[in-house]
This record gives sequence, structure tokens and C-alpha cells, in this order.
Amino acid sequence: MHTKTLSELSNALRTRQCSSRELTGHFLSRLKQHNATLNCCISITEEQALAQAAAADQRIQAGNAEALTGIPLLHKDIFCTQGIKTSCGSKMLDNFIAPYDATVVEKLNAAGMVTLGKTNMDEFAMGSSNETSYYGAVKNPWDLERVPGGSSGGSAAAVAACLAPAATGTDTGGSIRQPAALCGITGLKPTYGRVSRYGMIAFASSLDQGGPMTRTAEDAALLLNCMAGFDPRDSTSVEREVPDYTADLNNGLAGLKMGLPKEYIRTGLSEAMGLNLEAMVLELQKLGVKIKEINLPNTQLAVPVYYVVAPAECSSNLSRFDGVRFGYRCENPKDLADLYQRSRGEGFGAEVKRRIMVGTYALSAGYYDAYYLKAQQIRHLISDDFKQAFQQVDVILAPTSPTTAFKIGEKADDPITMYLSDIYTIAVNLAGLPGMSVPTGQIQGLPVGMQLIGNYFDEARLLNIAHRYQQVTQWHRQVPARFM
Ligand code: GLN
Repeated sequence: MHTKTLSELSNALRTRQCSSRELTGHFLSRLKQHNATLNCCISITEEQALAQAAAADQRIQAGNAEALTGIPLLHKDIFCTQGIKTSCGSKMLDNFIAPYDATVVEKLNAAGMVTLGKTNMDEFAMGSSNETSYYGAVKNPWDLERVPGGSSGGSAAAVAACLAPAATGTDTGGSIRQPAALCGITGLKPTYGRVSRYGMIAFASSLDQGGPMTRTAEDAALLLNCMAGFDPRDSTSVEREVPDYTADLNNGLAGLKMGLPKEYIRTGLSEAMGLNLEAMVLELQKLGVKIKEINLPNTQLAVPVYYVVAPAECSSNLSRFDGVRFGYRCENPKDLADLYQRSRGEGFGAEVKRRIMVGTYALSAGYYDAYYLKAQQIRHLISDDFKQAFQQVDVILAPTSPTTAFKIGEKADDPITMYLSDIYTIAVNLAGLPGMSVPTGQIQGLPVGMQLIGNYFDEARLLNIAHRYQQVTQWHRQVPARFM
């Protein structure tokens, strides 16, 4: 039952092969069995889950179920969940019970989905390996000595190990796509503004976007149908109709123009990754896709620009954690300054502090023009590269990550090497485009993912290509042996 996709589970529920209570019970017992091994969940919300499942079963009985009613999922612990601890992977919020639901959670609840728990993540979503979490590193289900990627590593590991059929994630610089690639699942970062950020704890507000993490593209389409849409409570959410993302999944790909960016494939891509990319290209060509080399000349500036913009925005966003209003407060403060200093000093981990310091510096008088303003200008050049590219091609194909999953600890003391994990994903966030990682093979037993990048609001096309590819390949169906 646990290896089934959302659409298969939906069918099983509708035809009464199982009830939501049975399904939910099954996944809860798998979570309880394997969470100690993977450390993928910060909370398992058994009681609420069983209550939601009972309500879903009634809804199915009454004949007013939607496609996802009764299906369980996990939420990244960055999404506020009413009455449930919402830690964002930080000691700062270890004691925080959210007073309301994030819009994404509210929408999925309204669709009748069942929340199994909250997934582990890098602290405040800052990281590419899940090692910055206050709750400890998450293990990759394919090799327990390796990282699952980050920052949505708990979501990726849980879905890959079939402890939940789907999960939510967020992506500021690659945090849905990179862990999806490293764990062998499908992950979609929608266009900036497509999915509401209300109740999603802010890291870098001009980059953050929530999205689905699933086994298949079809499942991603089903989840996105419920997650997407305008939200008056998020001023950056876009007022634009939500199409049925499942409608175009089976469209033919003949004549589709796909660009391969020279800068991505000619620099530093390992031989094995290159071969994997070639194999995917061959499959796509068999489906009628036309491949063309393109240029994204400012690619090498994306990581440095991101590491000015993201820290600058986070230094501002995280100023709300002051020990006064919510979250961690130090013991016996001497005075107000001591309260601020020690609450923040004790509540935040090393990576978060590093980013706050870099960001505060970049925004300070005298440096603002030299760093932040300059970074924003280069950001425009990066977006323009994509604009040019989309005049020549319909979609772009690129690797998701330069490597497969690395060993826990391998890059932990070297922030720059760690930052380069997102070299292929970050430009997409800077431009606000949709990007999707699809499992395309394995290298020495570890999953590999490739990335489809679309024009603004072209999620349906990415899902269509990924779905057609998944119909002729089986990589998205692989399950690590110990979790079969
Ligand atoms: N790894 C990147 C970072 O550390 C991206 C994280 C993310 O997308 N949330 O900032």
C-alpha cells in the first residue's frame, strides 16, 4: 500500500479498497517504525491525523469527496499548523505552537487531506544537507551515512522511504529540487507568487516558494491543484486562474523545443552526471523533443548574488525573533539588551547567525550600494538571460545538483562548498521561474535527478514533460531496499 501514488490511493479510497483510517494508520505505523532511523519528522501528529481520517471517511461515504480526500501527507515544519508545534528546525521555535494554519495547510485540509506530522528541515530553511537542523541531521534512505539534501530533506527522505505518499516543501534556492534529486523523488518549485506564502515562515521573501514533493509528476499536479491560487493575505501571491494541472499531463511532446544551457553542462559536470543527462535527452528525443544548446551567460553570478540577497532578506525577516513576542527567551536577562542578545545568541544556530551577520553587513549604510543594490542589478541580468532563452525554446533542461548525496559531515565545515550544491537551482529562484526535479537514474546506487525549468506560470508544461518521461522510465518507482 505504501508504494502507491496519490492517484492510485485516491482510486483505492474511492472504490472502498481501504478507508482513510486504515491508510492513515498504515503510514503512522511506518513513520513510528522508521523515524528513529531517518530522523525525518520533528512531530508525528497521530491523534489529529486519526480524527482527520475519520472525517475524511465520512466525507467519502457521503459522496462529496475530492480527489485527495482521505490521503495522508506530511508538512515541512516551516508551515504553520494550528495547535501543532511549528519549529522551522530551530531551537528558537522549539516551544512555538502555531495559532493558525498556513494557507497551504488550510487548502490541503479543506481538500480532506490528513496531516501525519511535520518534517525535519535545515534551520529556517538555510542549508543544503539538513545538517543545520536543531533536531539533528536527516539520513538519506538510500544510504544512511549520507545527507538527504536540504532544506526540505525530511520531506524528501520520508517520501522516498514511503513513510508518506507526499509532502510539502519550500524552495528559496533549491530546497525542493535538490533534496528531491538526492532522494530520488519528484519535486516542483512553482513560479514565485503561484502558491501563497502566508503562514510559511519567511527566510528570503523575494525568493521563497512552497511546492509539492511526491513520487510522480501526476501526483505533483494533483497537489499543486490544491496548493496554488491567489491569497489576499499574501501581497506577493498572483491573482491568476489556477488551471487543472492534470489536464495536459498526456499531451504529446512532438516538436517541443528544449534548451540545454552550455554554462550548466560544460562546466564542472562529472562524467557520470553528463552520461545521465545524455540518457534523459535520448528518451526525450524519442518522444519527439527537439534539443538546442542555449546560453545563460550570467550563470556564474547566481550563487554570489543569492548569497547577498538571501542573507540580506533573512537578516530583516529574522529580526522578529527577539525573545519578547514568541519563541525562545533566555533565562534571567539582566536588562532588555541582554534579553535580545542572549535570546538570539542561544536560540539561533551557527549557519543562521552567519547569514544574519552577512545580511546585516550587506544592508548597512555605505555597503548597501556596493552589495545589495549591485546584487539586485545582477539579478535582473540573470532574469534577462532566461527571457532571451525562452524566446528560442519552450523549456530548459539542466542538472538539479552537481553531485549525488554526499556523506554527513563531508561539507558541514565548509560553507562555500555547501553553497555550491545549489549552483544549478539558484538562478531559477532569482528569476522567479518554475523548476522541477525528476528522478533520472542512479550513480553507484544513489539517485540522480534532472531539472526542467519553465517560463513563468508554465508549470503545466513541466508536469506534462515529466509525466511523459515517467511513463517510459521507472526511476521514480525505485524504493530503497530496507523501506520496501
Ligand atoms: N541551500 C540554499 C541555502 O542554504 C537554499 C535553501 C532553500 O532553498 N531554502 O540557502
